[in-house]
Amino acid sequence: MTEEIILRAQKHYMAKYKEGFPLLSKETVENIDSLYQEGSIVVLLDSSGSFIGRGYYGIQNKGIGWILTHKEKEAIDSLFFQKKIAAAINKRSPFYHKEDTNAFRVFNGEGDGIGGLTIDCFGDYYLINWYSLGIYQFREEILSALTLLIQPRGIYEKKRFDKKGQYLEDDDFARGTPANFPLLVKENGVNIEVNLNDGAMTGVFLDQREVRKKLRDQYAKGKTLLNTFSYTGVFSVFAALGGATKTTSVDLAKRSLELTEAQFRANEIETNTQEIRVEDVFNFFDYGVKHGLKYDIVVLDPPSFARSKKNTFSAKKDYTALLKSAIDLTEEGGLIIASTNCATFDMKVFKGFVSKAFKEKSYKYNILEQYSLPGDFPTHPSFPEGDYLKVLFIKKQASL
Ligand code: SAH
Repeated sequence: MTEEIILRAQKHYMAKYKEGFPLLSKETVENIDSLYQEGSIVVLLDSSGSFIGRGYYGIQNKGIGWILTHKEKEAIDSLFFQKKIAAAINKRSPFYHKEDTNAFRVFNGEGDGIGGLTIDCFGDYYLINWYSLGIYQFREEILSALTLLIQPRGIYEKKRFDKKGQYLEDDDFARGTPANFPLLVKENGVNIEVNLNDGAMTGVFLDQREVRKKLRDQYAKGKTLLNTFSYTGVFSVFAALGGATKTTSVDLAKRSLELTEAQFRANEIETNTQEIRVEDVFNFFDYGVKHGLKYDIVVLDPPSFARSKKNTFSAKKDYTALLKSAIDLTEEGGLIIASTNCATFDMKVFKGFVSKAFKEKSYKYNILEQYSLPGDFPTHPSFPEGDYLKVLFIKKQASL
């Protein structure tokens, strides 16, 4: 049994905590001791010693733990995890009844009541992400709850808590029957190959589901598409299935070539009709400008931070420049799909980048579509930072 830690909220954060703010951090809580054990139960009190909430201690990039309940009598035990996971599954019942989609998020951290934990469904298999050693202490309770409630064929897990708060390389099989990878899942009728036991990423980012569908159903027909930071090329596959005349996928990772070819093949698209380039996007932009390349649609979906041999990219600092390069390669009347998962700025700031880029390039634009996280990625009302995804469909208009 883990020990219970009593913590007091910082004066300035008391009101916020009473409104339901769920994150514990060095700035918001007094007297943190570095010797606390990961997974200890935390009781948060106000300055007069009254109960605010109960949660757990677990260091991750965002903070040092999460409040899980505001009910003084509620214990954090097997039944607690079972209740939370059952509620999350219930909420996804429309997804469980879809014929054409079987990959979605079942549990989204604090948005479903437990910060530091996510669970995704990939057909008959489930993937758990543990964001701290603290939440990992409840592994048995959580695995048992999931097994009891769903009986998955197999469960995989990602331990995202090495010393830098990153993915810890390991065999990620956790329970049940191992899957044969690649595993084929469906999203809006499209086949997607995933691998739940090959590093930090699975092959698809589920939070872009609505964006991919929109691209396929309403924008791709008869168009050429440049997909930058393309990873396994799923945006390209959706565009091709939507009738794009040609897609060009650009990613620096060597493996993106075979993985992208595999995604095309899984959907019976001839790979030789599509272009896949293993290359630094920034080099490709230079090349494209030099050769006067233009595309009807350009997808920008960079990581929040990336370092390549020649370039360091930070979404917060460099997104405007990235947009400017994309404007160069987009036909007039064409579309830029700009996306970011960077949590350190919001949609308003993101739109500011767009405005600046178009102004500096002397083009008019208008925003046709706007997306944030889909319904299976609910966020916590008192923790808007959790709503990290921002996507804009921007039409490049005539020059100013
Ligand atoms: N858009 C993808 C997800 C992108 S993940 C999708 O929808 O599935 C980020 C990708 O950016 C990774 O595959 C990584 O290899 C790639 N990347 C990072 N820096 C890059 C660079 N400078 N040039 C090209 N690709 C880069």
